Formats: sequence, structure tokens, C-alpha cells
Amino acid sequence: MRDGTRHRGGTRHRGGRTARAGLAAALLGLAPWPAGAQTPAEQAPPAATEPADRLPAACRAGIDAGARAAGLDPARVAARLDGLAPDPAILAATGAQAEFVRPIWAYIDAAVTEARVADGQARLRDLAPTFAALEERYGVDRHILAAFWGVESNYGGGMGEAPVLRSLATLACGDGARAGYWRDELVAALRIAEAGDGPDPLLGSWAGAMGHTQFMPSVYLAHAVDFDGDGRRDIWRSAPDALASTAQYLRASGWRPGEGWGQEVALPAGFDYALADETTERSLAEWAGLGLRPARGERFADAEAQAVLILPAGARGPAFLLRPNFRAILRYNTALAYALTVGHLADRLRGEPGFSRDWPRGDRALTVFEIRDLQTRLSERGHAAGSADGKIGPRTRAAIRAWQATIGLTPDGYADPALLERIRAER
Ligand code: CA
Repeated sequence: MRDGTRHRGGTRHRGGRTARAGLAAALLGLAPWPAGAQTPAEQAPPAATEPADRLPAACRAGIDAGARAAGLDPARVAARLDGLAPDPAILAATGAQAEFVRPIWAYIDAAVTEARVADGQARLRDLAPTFAALEERYGVDRHILAAFWGVESNYGGGMGEAPVLRSLATLACGDGARAGYWRDELVAALRIAEAGDGPDPLLGSWAGAMGHTQFMPSVYLAHAVDFDGDGRRDIWRSAPDALASTAQYLRASGWRPGEGWGQEVALPAGFDYALADETTERSLAEWAGLGLRPARGERFADAEAQAVLILPAGARGPAFLLRPNFRAILRYNTALAYALTVGHLADRLRGEPGFSRDWPRGDRALTVFEIRDLQTRLSERGHAAGSADGKIGPRTRAAIRAWQATIGLTPDGYADPALLERIRAER
């Protein structure tokens, strides 16, 4: 999960994966955020330098008030917070403004490697009885659970080794725009520390995401499960607990047992790309009537199932029909690239091949500055692209489609350098 990055429409959570990966992701312009977090769409600049050996007094008072309201013992809270100094590396990371936006295929390629597929299949074999019990109890497919595990922590290999209380205290006192969010997560982490189910100190990513499946503290409190029966909800040291917690969170996010996340599809010649609006649900039978077919295979298995069509990289890339379960994945992390990665890794773990259609890999990625320029120009033409935040999300893609349609371009919603040049050339 993450702390909240707004990569697509809503503001939701994603968390930093491991500290290292989270930082790397931040530098690459990926959402470095955890499950149950929100998005740092507008990053606050790094805070002015404070005395670095302790938390600022006013901020600390707010934390203490929150802890009291949560029923925590002030003396025990003081024992945990008195020695904490802000971590300057975290503020530097949150303040860094990404210049480049990584293309979706780069994200998927990095996360769905042959090694990760092989490792995941080995975990599925080793823990087959556990996965069977999880499917029985929660109705969530084992390959999806294993995919979250692989993407979030490389199956436990990179859970983050940062002290969570210090990380969250740093953000609560240094990320002015989102201080309230971080303070609430810190209070939740204090409650978890007091409950004593995890390691002491609690460890996680620099953004506070914890354990095998990188739960933010508030998500842990609401959804963590003791699945191995030892009396502890231990997502750090028990993979079964972490996987069950993810299954529980997915169910609470609307996961539908027995249904998949979606599938790659082939479009007919002469397809009307305006239909790929990411939001209009049609049954698979209706999509078939419009000429769509599974990318591999002849016909859709479940004719009545509802799905939306999306072209993450426009007409030159693969197309996907997304089922309602895809939205449950997005609750974990709102980035389209993230959710597609989880779904694709799950398919690969199940033994399915890669995508049938390749991405437009020759394209140069637009910079954040260029995306902002594009968003501004779209809005000036009456196609509301939301705030010029430098991130391509559903609103920006919709605005691009609308503008493309007005000038006779294929309305596929894809922002590439040629599109930017075209709109810049307009008077
Ligand atoms: Ca347990």
C-alpha cells in the first residue's frame, strides 16, 4: 500500500514499498506510497530546518493530543516519542519533485520479472495448504494474493527496515500539506506498538507501510487478521497473517469471489476508440458485439459480466477490459500501473503468458513539466483535465480524448510527445 499518491483519479492510498524501493520510486516519479495511504500529488516542500534532535514542540503537542484521544497512556507514549528525532532523508525524499514520469511498461517490466514469477510459484507450492485455506475463508484467488505479496515486498524479501514511529513522526511534523494524515497514521502506529503483536520497534518503509504486504497503520487496525492462530496479528513475521489481512482488506474493498480482475483484449479494425473511456460498463457480450475478443482465445467466458475498456498506452498499446475487482486492487494503490501490475503478475503466476500486444516502447516519456503544460492547454480549450499536477490520470486521459475528437485524431487518450507538439502548435 502506499500513503496516498494520486496517480489516477481519486485520492487513496498506496504505501512505500521498502524504504529503498520507496525512495527509488520517489526519485523515479513513481508513487512511493503504501496500502491505505493517500497520494502526495502536491508535494510539500521540505520543511525549514528545525533543531534536528527532537520533534518540534507544537507538532509533538498535536501528536500527544491525538494519542490521548485514542486512549493511549501519556507516559507510555512519551517513552516512545521522547527520543525521536526527525529523519532528514525522509523529508528530502518527500520534497523531491520528480522530473520524469516512468511509462507504464517500465513499471510493469520492473515488477513482473521472470525471477519474481518463479519465486512466487515456489511460494505458492510451499504454502499450498495456507493458500487453499485463504481461498476457502476469503474467496480471494491465491494468485492475486501472491501477486500483492510479490509486488509489495518481493515475498517478504524487502519489507522495509525503517523505524515506523520515527518515519511517521517525521512526516507528521514535516509534511505540512498532509500533516493531519500522517499524525493519524502515527497515532495508529502507537496503538499497534502498544498492542505488541509486531516487532518492537515497528519496522516498515519510510512512508510507514509495514510487513509482508505493506499495510499502513490505519489499514492494519481495521483489517489485519491473525490467520495462523497464535493470537497475534503479525504481518511482519507471519506470511499467513499478512496474506489473510490482504484478503480481508480486498473483501472490504469490494472484491467479488470467483471473478478475475480483467483481461487483455483485441480490438477490431476500425474500432471507435471513444468507447475506451475507462468508465462505461458493458457486458462482455456487448463488448463482443462491438467486435472485441480475448487477446488469446475465441470468446469471453462470462458473457454477462460487466467491464470497462481502457487503453493505458493508447491505440498502439495493449487494450484491457477491467472487471469490478480491478477497483478493489486500486483501493490498495490508486495507480493504474500498480493495479495492472498486480493483475498481470497474478496471471503470470497462474501460468499464463505475457501480454499479446507490446507497448509503444519507442516513445519518450513526457516530463512532469510537459504534462502540466498539456493539462493547462487542454483546460484552456474547455477540456477539464483537473489541476495541472503533472500526472496522467483518468481526467487527463478523458480531456485528451475529447480534444483529439474535436480535431480528428484517434481519440485514444494517450499523451506522447507528438500529441504535445500538436497542441502546442495550435493557435
Ligand atoms: Ca498470527
